[in-house]
Amino acid sequence: MPADKSTINPFETAKKQVDIVCDLININGGVREMLKAPKRELTVNFPVLMDSGDHRIFTGYRVQYNMARGPCKGGIRYHPGVTLDEVRALSAWMTWKCAVVGLPYGGAKGGVICDPKHMSRIELERLTRRFAFEIAPIIGPEMDIPAPDVYTDSQTMAWIMDTYSMIKGYSVPGVTTGKPIAIGGSEGRGEATGRGCSYVIREAAPFAKVKVKGGSVAVQGFGNAGSVAANLLHDEQGAKIVAVSDSQGGIHNPAGLNPHEVEAHKAKTGTVVGFPGARSVSNEELLELKVDVLIPAALENVITKKNADKIQAKIVAEAANGPTVPEADKILYDKKIVVLPDILANAGGVTVSYFEWAQDIQGFFWTLQEVNQRLEQVMVSSYAAVRKEAETRQVHNRTAAYVVAISRVVDAIQRRGIYP
Ligand code: GLU
Repeated sequence: MPADKSTINPFETAKKQVDIVCDLININGGVREMLKAPKRELTVNFPVLMDSGDHRIFTGYRVQYNMARGPCKGGIRYHPGVTLDEVRALSAWMTWKCAVVGLPYGGAKGGVICDPKHMSRIELERLTRRFAFEIAPIIGPEMDIPAPDVYTDSQTMAWIMDTYSMIKGYSVPGVTTGKPIAIGGSEGRGEATGRGCSYVIREAAPFAKVKVKGGSVAVQGFGNAGSVAANLLHDEQGAKIVAVSDSQGGIHNPAGLNPHEVEAHKAKTGTVVGFPGARSVSNEELLELKVDVLIPAALENVITKKNADKIQAKIVAEAANGPTVPEADKILYDKKIVVLPDILANAGGVTVSYFEWAQDIQGFFWTLQEVNQRLEQVMVSSYAAVRKEAETRQVHNRTAAYVVAISRVVDAIQRRGIYP
């Protein structure tokens, strides 16, 4: 789905974003360099027994970007397009994401180059268990805690948790988050990314002069983040979901789609495409629809300088990581589009991951209501802090979110000092 993946390197984007903020708040020298260099990178090539009876070698990565504020945290994605630079960028974004919502974590990310859509469940289990074994020396509840990301889910996390626990000889629920409830998962984690995104949209709507009730919403990417955001905006805030898409294409109905029915159609056919009563749109067209709220919820680099001036939404809420490149940010800002940056808009997932980890460590579990209340508190106060920074400095929300996040990371680096 990325529009321009071949030409835009996400890690270059990630470093550019750091430089913009370092220029603004005067961070130079070694500390600036630290903010642009991943602390630890592990590349593993490992064999997996395929259903054909043959073994295939897969390549995977785990990058721990920065741990000044605490253990590293971040998802693992399975995708044919995974590269080391993409994982580096995603690990940097996790660092800023955890900092902007005030979690006591650094950032990490993992990825395996594979095509999970063309693998059987048992092949995926073998791949997951062997990958978990390969990265086991650098993960753990006090060191680095993986979670689901693109094309991984609670089952993937259960396999990783089990493999790690087998190595240790006892159960270690706190080694992953996003697990099934039966083995130490948290209530509310499954929908947390989309729920957090829906809260931030609600908070930003008055400023963007958008009425969510009856307002139109387009969602690119109908996976865990996008479908939950669509459902909650529809059910809890009365929004009209007019377009959604997945990797195979999109559907549009200006009168509104019932996202639950679209979900059922996707569960049955594997795609939103072909949903009755809607016209087809491409993923590119969907981004340019005249809507109140656009939610890019798929992959990175979809809003670029080629299409930014065609975006007509009043709010762009980034449920995906890295959907907008820096050159496009400026165009959106000049068009007075309110961008809710990824590190804030999709931070609900890692926030409830933090709750899950805290519950696992204490062995004491919370109700769904408690989880959602605390999530709402974190999202509302983090949005307010970012908005305040944007107004004080007269910058757009992404820069403001980065100022908040990077200042916190720099504070931690400076208070700890440099070893030795
Ligand atoms: N993969 C999610 C993200 O990009 C969640 C990470 C986590 O929960 O650690 O934010």
